[in-house]
Amino acid sequence: MGKDKIWLSSPHMGGNELKYINEAFSENWIAPLGPNVNGFENDIKNYLGEASSNNIEVAALSSGTAALHLALILCGVEHGDEVLCQSMTFAASANPIVYLGATPIFVDSESETLNICPEQLEIAIKDRISKGKKPKAIVAVHLYGMPYKVDQINEIAEKYEIPVIEDSAEALGSTFKGKKCGTFAKFSILSFNGNKIITTSGGGALVTQSSDSKKKAVFLATQARDDAPHYQHSEIGYNYRLSNISAGIGRGQMEVLDKRVEGRRDMFHFYVNLFRDVEGVKVFKEPNDDYFSNHWLSVITIDPEKTGGVDREDLRKCLESENIESRPLWKPMHMQPVFTNNPFYGTGIAEEMFKNGLCLPSGSNLSDRDRERIQDAILNCLKK
Ligand SMILES: *Cc1c(COP(=O)(O)O)cnc(C)c1O
Repeated sequence: MGKDKIWLSSPHMGGNELKYINEAFSENWIAPLGPNVNGFENDIKNYLGEASSNNIEVAALSSGTAALHLALILCGVEHGDEVLCQSMTFAASANPIVYLGATPIFVDSESETLNICPEQLEIAIKDRISKGKKPKAIVAVHLYGMPYKVDQINEIAEKYEIPVIEDSAEALGSTFKGKKCGTFAKFSILSFNGNKIITTSGGGALVTQSSDSKKKAVFLATQARDDAPHYQHSEIGYNYRLSNISAGIGRGQMEVLDKRVEGRRDMFHFYVNLFRDVEGVKVFKEPNDDYFSNHWLSVITIDPEKTGGVDREDLRKCLESENIESRPLWKPMHMQPVFTNNPFYGTGIAEEMFKNGLCLPSGSNLSDRDRERIQDAILNCLKK
């Protein structure tokens, strides 16, 4: 019997996506603007705004990476500047810093949320200031959907007056103290890439709390055209707006976001149960009730000394041989060949997590049969 591939995280359509796409076709809105773009922005605005006392503005863009690029520009980041960035993240959190000719300064994680460590962040800020450059921004990430230590990070950011850019690419639907991720900073970004909790096939959004910032983001994202009958430009612009077709997918996906969060969290509970009595494997959980993760990806750490020698790679290969995708935790940026010369502040937490951590299949569309296959593969591997 051929076994279908079980993916780490695959798209999961809700049903109404095609309705919105068909509307775009019937009205000939085949462009990076139109009713679906506006509708999608409104849907996100209403969703994030629900539990927030702040005004929420959303600019739909072609990717989360584009949103980060614009957020950095809006924070005034320029050539020669330094920007603090969580090391344990996906490369897209750091790359746009380099697009601007600025230098990412990497900061370690703490072990409770896997996100940017407040102590190391403050050490880094003080050291960079003492070396003569105050960092222009802090890129903090809610990795795998787990909120970072919002209160502590905000406190440090306010103390040193450095804006935070909240990378919520993996955390749509997560909350901290009842408030939604994506609403904790002056600028937040979302991603709707194909592997995220909801998708537009490719897409992203910049979330801000000021309508002027939104206006400026849309201006920059549409080639920075001055108000004139001819094409006139006083600034360098970008082609970063979301297509009205993609936004149609997004509108359909927003209708089922709550269900997708439920589905991902069900997978997390499945793993909690599966590993309940397994020595040496820990499922990564919220540290306390302030945190609510969408569990975009379920994460485990493996201690080979307690599993009878089975380590992270052994388990990954066992799953692979059963056509089940899993992936080591994101390799920290300070360990990446492309960033070897960038400063790093830390104590080895991210390195340790990278060594022993594994992301398991977490899609909201996995069937009972898929779960059985995952369970069998894991338990067989651990028995060896
Ligand atoms: C996916 C992702 C991004 C980038 O989003 P794209 O839409 O793929 O450009 C940025 N940061 C993190 C943490 C991500 O997971």
